[in-house]
Amino acid sequence: MTSASSAIAAPNDLEAYWMPFTANRSFKKNPRMVARAEGMFYYTPDNKPVMDGTAGLWCCNAGHAREPIIQAIQAQARDLDYAPSFQYGHPKVFAAAARIAALAPGDLDHVFFAGSGSEAGDSALKIALAYWNISGKAAKTRLIGRERGYHGVGFGGISVGGMSNNRKFFGSLLTGVDHLAHTYDREKQAFSKGEPEYGAHFADDLERIVALHDASTIAAVIVEPMAGSTGALPPPKGYLKRLREICDKHNILLIFDEVITGFGRLGFAFAAERYGVIPDMITFAKGVTSGTVPMGGVIVRKHIYDAFMGGPDNVIELFHGYTYSGHPLAAAACLASLDIYRDEGLFERARAMEGAWADAVMSLKGEPNVVDIRTLGIVGAVDLAPRADGVGKRAFEAMDRLFREEGLMVRTAADTIAFSPPLIITESQVDELIEKLRRVIRAVA
Ligand code: PLP
Repeated sequence: MTSASSAIAAPNDLEAYWMPFTANRSFKKNPRMVARAEGMFYYTPDNKPVMDGTAGLWCCNAGHAREPIIQAIQAQARDLDYAPSFQYGHPKVFAAAARIAALAPGDLDHVFFAGSGSEAGDSALKIALAYWNISGKAAKTRLIGRERGYHGVGFGGISVGGMSNNRKFFGSLLTGVDHLAHTYDREKQAFSKGEPEYGAHFADDLERIVALHDASTIAAVIVEPMAGSTGALPPPKGYLKRLREICDKHNILLIFDEVITGFGRLGFAFAAERYGVIPDMITFAKGVTSGTVPMGGVIVRKHIYDAFMGGPDNVIELFHGYTYSGHPLAAAACLASLDIYRDEGLFERARAMEGAWADAVMSLKGEPNVVDIRTLGIVGAVDLAPRADGVGKRAFEAMDRLFREEGLMVRTAADTIAFSPPLIITESQVDELIEKLRRVIRAVA
């Protein structure tokens, strides 16, 4: 247990830290600071509880300060603080790879480790390119992402990503890519619970792209099964299956970015299992350690790993990797997190709760300015109508008021409020979360 009631002093000088994806000047004038966490709650420096409506950044699926994870990290720091990831190994990273591979469906059976979701995305794209190169199809270099997609912030990730703010400042390296149309049509899909009925045909946009560039130039398609960062867009029914079929038809690799959807968020270890669609690679991060120690990676199908294993035994097969690939503390945290997920049945719990969760979130329909609500697994998203004075201002005010007045942490993207609490949330906490949202949605009307 953490020091449950002790307040932790807030720092006086906030200037030196350049905060990521944050309005720095606004934050530093009026910080939203958390100093510790336990279970479903963060605590501010003066010890005010803030319900974690977002599992941190979609990562703390087992909740906070879980004793087995703390102990595993502590013991690992004592036993083996670091081991080189190139040409040396340590036992826990092999165990972690085996456990992750066992959770993945089909023959997704080899795991390449990275340090984050962004590194995982870039690793998958590089593996796709190298795969075609060594398979004698070196012209297959084009990478296809999707509008409104997010695959982290590396150059690979922002190239295939489809969020204009993440692309427009960063110039000329973003070439050799194209983008599928996104799958959201509010007129046809508004207030769908789970996967919308309408929109499988959006997958056919890949045929347009193949006709334009020719399949002989296309290496891979990367999509999030549920687009998370642009406001939680569940895949239309049948969409992912159709995408798989078109990739198969044209010999194009399919990559699922499961950085958010992996490890229980949609009620399964991976969305690939939920949808019965086996991609060629899955990227993961976040929930793999329940957010405790940075870790990401790529799970690849057997034929991809095997394709690299043809040369002499003593030659490095893939010239790629990170100092912190499979870091011992991350591997230990991963094993302890997977134990909790298994022992507490958290993926099954999420699946069992999904219906009640969706009903609770949908009860916000009819509140002022609510123009759409989406749910999937233990994810909810509420779109608010933008204010006349600017896109995003209403949701930002709601996020800020939820933190200060209601003690609830949420995420916003433009005027969408998204929430994805730890999978340990109780039914009464779901009600509490929704009532906090309801009050603030009314307050920002
Ligand atoms: N891919 C997806 C789908 C994500 O949601 C994120 C982060 O939110 C990333 C990749 C990037 O992960 P990271 O921030 O760990 O680099």
